[in-house]
Amino acid sequence: MQTVLNDHFLSRPVSDELFDQAKQVLVGGVNSPVRAFKSVGGSPVFIKEAHGPIITSEDEMSYIDYVLSYGPLILGHSHPLVTEALNNQILKGTSYGAPTKLETELAYLIQSFFPSIEKVRFVNSGTEAVMSAIRLARGVTGRDIIVKFNGCYHGHVDSLLVSAGSGNLTLGVPDSQGVLTEIADKTVVINYNDIDAIEQLFNKMGDSIAAVIVEPICGNMGVVPPLPGFLESLQSNCKQYDSLLIFDEVMTGFRVSPGGAQSLYGIKPDLTILGKVIGGGLPCGAYGGSKKLMAYVSPEGPVYQAGTLSGNPLAMVAGITTLNKLKDKSVYSHINDMSLMLVNGLKDILEKKSIPYCIHHFGSMFSLFFTGKQVTNLADVKLVDTTLFNRFFHLLLDNGVYIAPSAFEASFVSFAHQKEHVQQTLNAVDKSLV
Ligand SMILES: *Cc1c(COP(=O)(O)O)cnc(C)c1O
Repeated sequence: MQTVLNDHFLSRPVSDELFDQAKQVLVGGVNSPVRAFKSVGGSPVFIKEAHGPIITSEDEMSYIDYVLSYGPLILGHSHPLVTEALNNQILKGTSYGAPTKLETELAYLIQSFFPSIEKVRFVNSGTEAVMSAIRLARGVTGRDIIVKFNGCYHGHVDSLLVSAGSGNLTLGVPDSQGVLTEIADKTVVINYNDIDAIEQLFNKMGDSIAAVIVEPICGNMGVVPPLPGFLESLQSNCKQYDSLLIFDEVMTGFRVSPGGAQSLYGIKPDLTILGKVIGGGLPCGAYGGSKKLMAYVSPEGPVYQAGTLSGNPLAMVAGITTLNKLKDKSVYSHINDMSLMLVNGLKDILEKKSIPYCIHHFGSMFSLFFTGKQVTNLADVKLVDTTLFNRFFHLLLDNGVYIAPSAFEASFVSFAHQKEHVQQTLNAVDKSLV
């Protein structure tokens, strides 16, 4: 999908040079593939520092940031309260391998936003939380099969790097080399929002399903909402067959509403996975649920799971400070106002220019799809005009706005974004949609 860039895009000589150096010693020059700009073409911007809504590159260019580290920085970059808390903690040590009261404090804070989480286990990434929750689901139910949905991303867990086999309701096939067929065989992949497929699947093999894992509002094929009845059908089938319902709210948690998608739709999953915002910009993930289920996890129960740096004090203080700030309702109302102003402005520009689009927007996350069709699943997402997106991406960058370098990612707004940033962004969008 490498795009040839036109000469008129601005050059970034320092970033280009740093990327060449990075490629000598880092795989693809990056530590996470999307950062390499492969789908939009060109080479990545190297970041020097970031404050509030603005990131600054090694080329001394400033950008209004809607990536926000792919979601975590809901208060914006280097928020003074988070920075101060981290500075204070760092003087007291960075890891002890022993309990601290910080872990309990963050657990209670999480519980206050997510009442379905009576007990929680902290880990170091969303991927690790998903991997552990799947082990727990299999341990609790004594069953093998995991159900996931096309277009949902749950980190790079072997069991979930799986795509649909040929034909409906067949077992999955590996989506990456190195994933064993024996593992992919235990995953069933169905289309997002396909209620009939869920019913059929449970009828056929409900008794072997350990868990259904879902992004209750999908964010990882761009933002795609659940159709009415979709989450309800997952819940009722899981209940009927004693399978566990796992909501992966790593992205939606604290974003679509303070209590995530589960509070928005009034559906209580058996297990919830969190990440991103709960670490306030430091590495942190978590999984949790009822006391009864979590009692299966070691040291209380037989499902083993551990971590040298889990519950790390720096991640805990960044998370505590972030969630404490989010308790202030005016924080959410500001973020949501800015987000709404941006989305409404985008719609006006797209209408004015008669460009077909579909925008999905919840709280402080949204996606703009360049397609006139209503997007409800991965097949719809694949209809977007990626050529238009790639050009839009580069022109936005040249006009000082940084969005994720892929047509299939969500955009995020932070507490630090102000009206003037949003207005400046809309001006850039107006210039970039040509
Ligand atoms: C980002 C994300 C993950 C993976 O989290 P990492 O910290 O990158 O491992 C899992 N699930 C969802 C829904 C995500 O958005």
